[in-house]
Amino acid sequence: MTIVTATTNTPRVWAGCESCYAAGRLVGVWVDAIDAAELTAAQIHAGSGVDWSTEGCEEFVCMDNDGLPVSGEPSLAEAARWGEIYEEVGDIQWPALCAWVRSGSYTAEGDTDYPSVSDFEEAYAGCWDSFADYAEDLAEGCGLLADVPEELRGYFDLRGAWARDLAFDYSVETCETGGIYVFRSL
Ligand SMILES: [Zn+2]
Repeated sequence: MTIVTATTNTPRVWAGCESCYAAGRLVGVWVDAIDAAELTAAQIHAGSGVDWSTEGCEEFVCMDNDGLPVSGEPSLAEAARWGEIYEEVGDIQWPALCAWVRSGSYTAEGDTDYPSVSDFEEAYAGCWDSFADYAEDLAEGCGLLADVPEELRGYFDLRGAWARDLAFDYSVETCETGGIYVFRSL
C-alpha cells in the first residue's frame, strides 16, 4: 500500500520586506500561509545579506502567493487567517472553497471578508462534469421518478428542462481539473 502524505493545495505566500523593496532589494521567503504571522525579521532576511536591524526593516507583506483566493498584497496576519481557514476546510475541499470565494457570491464570516466555512459546507454540492450530471444524480438520489413506471422514465428529460430549472437555485464555477463546482444558493 502506498501512503501519499503530500498535500497539494496548501496555500503559500512570499513574505517580503517593504523597506528592502523600497530600496530596490527583493528580500523575502516562501512559507505556508498559516506560518506567515509568526515570521520574524531575521527569518525574512535570512540569506539576503541585509542587516535588517540597521536598515529599519519593520514592514512585511505578502508580495506573492500561491493558492490564496485573494489578489493584492495581504498582510502576514491575513495570510495566516487564510491558512487557518485552509486547515479548517481541509486540503481536498480548499480549491472548491477558493472558487466559491472568487465567485463573489459567497457568505462572509461576520463583518469580515473571510468565507464562512460552515456555509461553504452547506452550499458545496461537489465537482461534476456538467450541471446536467449533478441534476441527474440528485434526481436519482431523491427518488424523483421512483413512482414512475420504468417504461415511462425515458420520457422525463432530467438533463434538459428539469436541470435548467434546478440551476436557478445554484451557482457553478469552473474547476481547474476540468468540470464544474456546484454550489447551492443559500
Ligand atoms: Zn528589509
